[in-house]
Amino acid sequence: MLESLTDRLGNALRSLRGQAKLTEENMTESLQEVRKALLAADVHFRVAREFIDRVAKQCEGQAVLKSVTPGQMIVKIIHDELVSLLGEGSTALEDKKPLRVLLLGLQGSGKTTFAGKLALHLRKNGYTPAVIACDVYRPAAIDQLETLARDNDILFYGERDSKNVRKIGRNGWEWAKEQGADAIIFDTAGRLQIDEPLVKEVVDLKKEVQPDESILVADAALGQEAVNVAKTFHEAVGLTGIALSKLDGDTRGGAALSMKAIAQVPIKFLGTGEKVTDLEVFHPDRLAGRILG
Ligand code: GDP
Repeated sequence: MLESLTDRLGNALRSLRGQAKLTEENMTESLQEVRKALLAADVHFRVAREFIDRVAKQCEGQAVLKSVTPGQMIVKIIHDELVSLLGEGSTALEDKKPLRVLLLGLQGSGKTTFAGKLALHLRKNGYTPAVIACDVYRPAAIDQLETLARDNDILFYGERDSKNVRKIGRNGWEWAKEQGADAIIFDTAGRLQIDEPLVKEVVDLKKEVQPDESILVADAALGQEAVNVAKTFHEAVGLTGIALSKLDGDTRGGAALSMKAIAQVPIKFLGTGEKVTDLEVFHPDRLAGRILG
């Protein structure tokens, strides 16, 4: 069981009892504990340090309110700061029709599953979604998307004998419009690592379909590595959001904070299971609570 931050802070906070003001000296021990909690939740050490500095600045000189203990006050400041960092930028999808969404991610990140989750989410919000298979390397990936689409009554487009991703994208877009779709989700190829051909292919496809959203699906369980993936994809392709998958595991989701701080891309969705309905629209306060434990 993970200790809650308030418990972990217990000892450190006892020394604050009776203090009228929070100062750097009387906060040191508590902030050390917060730092440990963040690192344990997979937050990048540099991000944790910057975060602690921000919290320290916020706390310094604050008079402890009569109604709360210094401990409660610090935990609230930490929580609020975390929510504000996680929630910076737009965490919602562009509100427009038609909506074009390009999905990116490494193989196994949960991208295809997310394509289905997003399609259902958009349908619930009044769209007619279609998914376009733009993976020309793994026929199994096309089959997987097609099955997912069929099982959930989602429009599907794929070309099994073409290797021209740009053309598939354009044909898929035309086809989907003819079918009356107004939310088009392009599922791109996933590789084991980000290499030049992958980036070039995605950049080409992006030029062709001019997406309103370019969303990276990243596996939360990768921890720090997910941050590098987000940064590299963002620099190479330009992202408008991140869907953090597999948050139903033991991970506390600290990678989200690092991604937000380092890659500067807003988190928009959380994947919370293998089922197509296991999707949460991102709420910074919920994730903040989880990271703090
Ligand atoms: P892709 O290669 O990126 O398209 O990844 P897939 O969509 O095929 O997903 C890879 C594996 O992760 C599959 O076994 C999925 O069922 C699983 N998966 C996807 N999203 C989640 C999630 O949010 N939670 C869990 N536990 N598993 C997930």
